[in-house]
Amino acid sequence: MELPQKHRPHGDHQNARPTSGQRLYDYRWQQARERHLSAHPLCEFHLAQDLVVLAREVDHVIPHNGNLTLFWDRTNWQSLCKSCHSRKTRAEQLGGAPLRPQLSRSAIPVSLVCGPPGSGKTRYVDERRQPGDIVIDLDAIKARLSGHHWYHPQSDIRLDDAIHERNQRLRALAYEKAAVRAWFIVGAPARSEREWWAKSLGNCSVIVLDVAPEVCLERIDMDERRAGRAREFSQAVHGWWARYEPE
Ligand SMILES: [Zn+2]
Repeated sequence: MELPQKHRPHGDHQNARPTSGQRLYDYRWQQARERHLSAHPLCEFHLAQDLVVLAREVDHVIPHNGNLTLFWDRTNWQSLCKSCHSRKTRAEQLGGAPLRPQLSRSAIPVSLVCGPPGSGKTRYVDERRQPGDIVIDLDAIKARLSGHHWYHPQSDIRLDDAIHERNQRLRALAYEKAAVRAWFIVGAPARSEREWWAKSLGNCSVIVLDVAPEVCLERIDMDERRAGRAREFSQAVHGWWARYEPE
């Protein structure tokens, strides 16, 4: 589905929108919101950092600014806790890095590789990528920014910087001429998330590695890079499975 144009000058649609935006947040929204929160109970920003926190709010990924299509598009909704929601709103006002950015259609085919931690997403890509393929993986970016071969949660990189770099690399796919294929590694347990990425990037095939939680945790246990973080990964794996929707 094509999203409508969002960047028309203000006066253009001023008359068509509700006076304050308040009117959109009516009873129908409250019901939709409750349903979304019970289907997606965890904060998505925290999950992106492997942390499990209950969500209290439903956020519009791309701010709707009174646009009804964006407002009611479920693939544009995400569950957030209160602190992440206010952080996102502040970041938007300051021009910070959104977890789900606005993207243009990729010039080359993209394979979206989804699954819980420990499902073998990186290995899946490594076994299939051809020389020159582009691989975009937030964990790899976090690791590089932290100056290690893998990401240490203690390192003081700002997640925002990593997300910003990932978004830049995703946007650059629209202008890519040299590479034949891109691989994008992302958890995306909910169908709506996968659809959102696929729709935003276009030209996408989706692979879901729905590896059983016991198997993921066993692999994580044996992975020295993840040593000492068993509890955190256990939450992340079970969090992914709690939100998983098959195709
Ligand atoms: Zn949060």
